Amino acid sequence: MSSIIHRKDTRPVKVGDLIIGGKDEVVIQSMTTTKTHDVEATVNEIHRLEEAGCQVVRVACPDDRAADAIPEIKKRINIPLVVDIHFNYRYALKAIEGGADKIRINPGNIGKRERVVEVVKAAKSRGVPIRIGVNAGSLERHLLEKYGYPTADAMVESALGHIRILEELDFHNIVVSLKASDVKLAIEAYEKAAEVIPYPLHLGITESGTLFAGTVKSAAGLGAILSKGIGSTLRISLSADPVEEVKVAKELLKSFGLASNAATLISCPTCGRIEIDLISIANEVEEYIQNIKAPIKVAVLGCAVNGPGEAREADIGIAGARGEGLLFRHGEIIRKVPEETMVEELKKEVDKLAEEHYKK
Ligand code: SF4
Repeated sequence: MSSIIHRKDTRPVKVGDLIIGGKDEVVIQSMTTTKTHDVEATVNEIHRLEEAGCQVVRVACPDDRAADAIPEIKKRINIPLVVDIHFNYRYALKAIEGGADKIRINPGNIGKRERVVEVVKAAKSRGVPIRIGVNAGSLERHLLEKYGYPTADAMVESALGHIRILEELDFHNIVVSLKASDVKLAIEAYEKAAEVIPYPLHLGITESGTLFAGTVKSAAGLGAILSKGIGSTLRISLSADPVEEVKVAKELLKSFGLASNAATLISCPTCGRIEIDLISIANEVEEYIQNIKAPIKVAVLGCAVNGPGEAREADIGIAGARGEGLLFRHGEIIRKVPEETMVEELKKEVDKLAEEHYKK
């Protein structure tokens, strides 16, 4: 597969021990759904997200109790922590003080200039980046009056306004998002932003919906943006368990060759030639490879008629035959295995390939 040329000319921004921007990689984020002040529940959810492959996690900070919980949450998790603040600069200061690796706040919404200065000073002294989050649904009134309704130009102008406030204070540790729930609007906004904003872009289609509809909508929108090489980090927003957001993000990035730490399943749609219980096998193998942190392609095919040849790009695969399975590598059959043990055999081969990759 020819991989797309991903935009690397964005300014690299350090978030904890991760770099966002400046390279051919897109960092996966998600957001907790628990009450942030409930440290136990929040930390448990973050651990589940980490396990699923989430690289950066965001928590909402709507009140003092949430802000006070940041140090304890930070202490108990392994991935960088982003604290999401609306308006209240005191929470921003508390979050930075409490160990946040990044904050999300729009400087234009903080209020008095001295408050902005204080937040920027604190962020600077601790090396904490700020994400500016423009949302089509909450654009400034003067922009709505100027453009009539939320347009891509209005969104980019809003972002540039917030950026200017930070740059005037000599702050450049910035990430920018321009979210909209309208897919076409989001695509246009990100395209326009990529032309004029030198900072890494955080991608998202906001309020995209439930697991099924939201996945399709996010894949359509973010897929179009990623295919143009735009985006340094992303969050899929779903009305579902956030672990599902991470799974969708991983799958999406794999389609563009932008995930270096995840295995991919290739499985056939089945037809009248099928020789094995393919759907349940495919689901079992998919579940198994979720935890493989290597870019291995695994195929599961219903029969050997077109099977192995059709899945030539697979590093390892299995094709159903009458009462048995054919194990193949890169389209070549390597051996036959009994039907009852073929899934186990396939898993062993996957483990071997993963080990080889980890040793490299
Ligand atoms: Fe049909 Fe075999 Fe192709 Fe699957 S691999 S779709 S069973 S021909």
